[in-house]
Amino acid sequence: MCYFIGLRSARSTDPRQEKGPVTQFPALPRAGEDCGKERTAEQERERMEPWKMILSEIAARDEYRSLTRIAVAGDSVAACGEVVDLSSNDYLCLSRDQRLVEAAIAAARRFGVGSTGSRLMSGNLDIHRELEEAIAQWKGTEAALLMGSGYLANLGVISALSTTVDQVFLDRLCHASIVDGVRLGGRRFRRFRHNDPGHLEELLQGAKDPSRVLVVVEGVYSMDGDVVPLNELLALRARFGFILLIDDAHGIGVMGREGRGVVAVNRACEVDVHIGTFGKALGCYGAFIACSSSLREFLVNVARPFIFSTAPAPPLLGAALRALEIVRSESGIRSRLLSTAAWFRQRLRQDLGVSTPSRSHIVPVILGENALALEAADRLRAAGFHVKAIRPPTVPRGEARLRISLTTASSREQLARLLRVLQGVVGSC
Ligand code: PMP
Repeated sequence: MCYFIGLRSARSTDPRQEKGPVTQFPALPRAGEDCGKERTAEQERERMEPWKMILSEIAARDEYRSLTRIAVAGDSVAACGEVVDLSSNDYLCLSRDQRLVEAAIAAARRFGVGSTGSRLMSGNLDIHRELEEAIAQWKGTEAALLMGSGYLANLGVISALSTTVDQVFLDRLCHASIVDGVRLGGRRFRRFRHNDPGHLEELLQGAKDPSRVLVVVEGVYSMDGDVVPLNELLALRARFGFILLIDDAHGIGVMGREGRGVVAVNRACEVDVHIGTFGKALGCYGAFIACSSSLREFLVNVARPFIFSTAPAPPLLGAALRALEIVRSESGIRSRLLSTAAWFRQRLRQDLGVSTPSRSHIVPVILGENALALEAADRLRAAGFHVKAIRPPTVPRGEARLRISLTTASSREQLARLLRVLQGVVGSC
């Protein structure tokens, strides 16, 4: 299935090849080199700032990133007039929910604003344990371990686990933090074609001992919005006995009963490691690893981002506890978001002829070249929509896109207006 609507890159992407870094660092002058030569102030600055060359290479590829000022986070961006925000991961609009704000204040009053040290030093507070127990109970696992962020969770658990296996297989579209986790563990990895259990099976058949393989996938893919083929994956795990990690950063809170994500509670034990973040649908910051008790103990002993970093801060834990109660009890907000998303995807297909891989609240419109995505995002911005152009290395080269991220604040009226604007944008790409 091809989802491109714009230009397509001729670059062939072999998912089995791990690519090296795209950026070459310029050589720095060696000690003593050029000594004694007169230089202008400008030349001196150039010499001292070798990263400028890298920046100009990035800009030449239309991959230059800059920060957009957001005056107040929420459903509209107030920096350059009122703009509808369709770029946020605050899918349930909990980040400014007063119930979370109050819970954060109460936790700060009780425990302070900082945790004072790593969990293994002075930072292991009752509220860490309380949230871990609530997470394990919700996810249906024996235990859970909090981490500073989803990035750190992946870095910690994947680097630790990859040293216990012979090989690591990743879905081709796995997040950068997953790749970095394998690298921190000093391992190489192989990629299987995105959401392709057949290709994973081929790799497993070629493995010396498939039970000594770590397989990593995501629940809902952050830039495609499609969902892991869970049944096929669990069938493969039952056959081959590999270790399975599912990073459900974008499914938690939105998908499944009580917002548990893509893995239902009765199948939780078939997944060895569940990763979820508090920074997206749960509206806060931080993350969890839900797993067996023995794996939790292992991570406490070897996961470097856990051992060597300050424990998550009490106000965020208080807010996360409250967010968890809300997502468990208020299924209405979740189903409203998913039905708006289904409606939007259908209109995109029917009215604009744009098909998208999405099966969720994250809806990409894949345009191809970087310049096209940048231009499309500018045009949407001019029409009152803040939608980000997503470019490499976040997505494969030649697959730049608009990432339309729906939240409970996205109304059908707004989206109908967006569709009208998109029609002009996509039609001219
Ligand atoms: N995993 C996935 C799949 C993600 O998309 C992200 C963030 N975009 C992370 C992990 C990192 O999570 P956090 O933002 O909490 O560091």
